[in-house]
Amino acid sequence: MARYRGAICKLCRREGVKLFLKGDRCYSNKCSIEKGTSLPGKNAKTSRIKKLSTYGIRLREKQKLRKYYGLLEKQFKNYFKKAERKKGITGENLLELLERRLDNIVYRFNLTKSRAQARQLVLHSHILVNGKKVNIPSYQVNINDVIEVKEKSKNIADIKEIKDGKVEINISSWLEFDTKTLKGKIIKFPSKEDLNLPVEEKLVVEYYSR
Ligand code: SF4
Repeated sequence: MARYRGAICKLCRREGVKLFLKGDRCYSNKCSIEKGTSLPGKNAKTSRIKKLSTYGIRLREKQKLRKYYGLLEKQFKNYFKKAERKKGITGENLLELLERRLDNIVYRFNLTKSRAQARQLVLHSHILVNGKKVNIPSYQVNINDVIEVKEKSKNIADIKEIKDGKVEINISSWLEFDTKTLKGKIIKFPSKEDLNLPVEEKLVVEYYSR
């Protein structure tokens, strides 16, 4: 599967916000954004003060959302097309489709420190959906689908710590997760307010609707 292989923190620095792509480092003072590191590239100083056009603002919001979920342009655009075809508000549909990805749900259960790690966990067949192995990170999880860690995988260090109650985890109100059985599910699809994303999704819709 194609994926971005460049410097990760550069992605946040380009957008000027924390996108939480690197696990523990994102919560430490080693984070480039916390340190106030400037934009990447030779013209960093001038580009920071350059006023963005309307197109530029919309483009940056789209890039932010795409990077936040760790997707390539083609994959992200496909989500937008699906969101457009669904009934309802396109921007909200888009967020729902992105949040329902299996790798995202695994990350939201706090089983990993980043979505990239969650993707690896899924790809390496450590996760079951309704009792069956699913190794497709983009798998769309439905309300009440049971997501769980495979029995043999419960000894993975970070997962074992959760099971043993050694780490405190925060589960979003739209999800349910039992740290003892390492099983969880979506109890309702999230609203924009539930997600608290650093992105204005309406601008993403405007970007693709131009
Ligand atoms: Fe790097 Fe994480 Fe900070 Fe982004 S939030 S700059 S990925 S450490």
